[in-house]
Amino acid sequence: MLETIVAPQEALAAASRELEGASPQQVLRWAAAAYQPGLALACSFGGPSGMVLLDMMMRIDRSVEVFYIDTDFLFPETYRLRDIAAARYGFEPAGYMSLLTPAQQAAAYGDALWARDPDACCALRKVEPNRRALAGKRAWLSGIRRDQSKSRAETPIVQWDGKFGLVKVNPLATWTESQVWQYILDNEVPYNELHDQGYPSIGCTHCTRPVAAGDDPRSGRWQGFDKTECGLHAPDGHDAPEPARAAVGD
Ligand code: SF4
Repeated sequence: MLETIVAPQEALAAASRELEGASPQQVLRWAAAAYQPGLALACSFGGPSGMVLLDMMMRIDRSVEVFYIDTDFLFPETYRLRDIAAARYGFEPAGYMSLLTPAQQAAAYGDALWARDPDACCALRKVEPNRRALAGKRAWLSGIRRDQSKSRAETPIVQWDGKFGLVKVNPLATWTESQVWQYILDNEVPYNELHDQGYPSIGCTHCTRPVAAGDDPRSGRWQGFDKTECGLHAPDGHDAPEPARAAVGD
């Protein structure tokens, strides 16, 4: 069992080193050749990197599944961008929701879980649906970048994602925020209109606030908590434990 896990990890590390100087498009072509069918692209419709990744992938291979996690708490602007992108690129976005409705979550865990234990809330509304989205897939594409936060500073181009049990490819890992926005402008890529209203990083309505010019772009997320990640991109492949599923009725 050890061999079947360790050997692929070493091969992935070697592939990541080889792709370190490659363009995002070259990385995407490599990923499509290596893993499609079986490749999924995560796009939250809430960040510019995801839109760049989507635009690049749609120019290379439109058969890759595009999915998003619908927490039930997304901004109207995020749904609007989802629909705009789907129409522009001609794909059917696959939305994955929590097994619990917001009312069921409140019944099982109390009101406003996000304000008391955001790790538990993210585990229920983001991590578990993401696990279902990736079930049966061979690799997934993420738009995370090294310049986004300290916890993402060591992001490799290719890695084994132990948390979800498949390969994770980060084609934009080496890109900067300004490169992302330049690509958006050059290619007229649609983006979330909240970016023009002081929201550099957009997640759920309960946990996203606008930030002042010059502030850390992710400082508007989970304000008041020592939390910077939703649990999908934990660097070591581990994160807050997912709470046990409560027995709740419809
Ligand atoms: S971002 Fe906030 S509301 Fe959304 S799943 Fe996480 S804790 Fe819950």
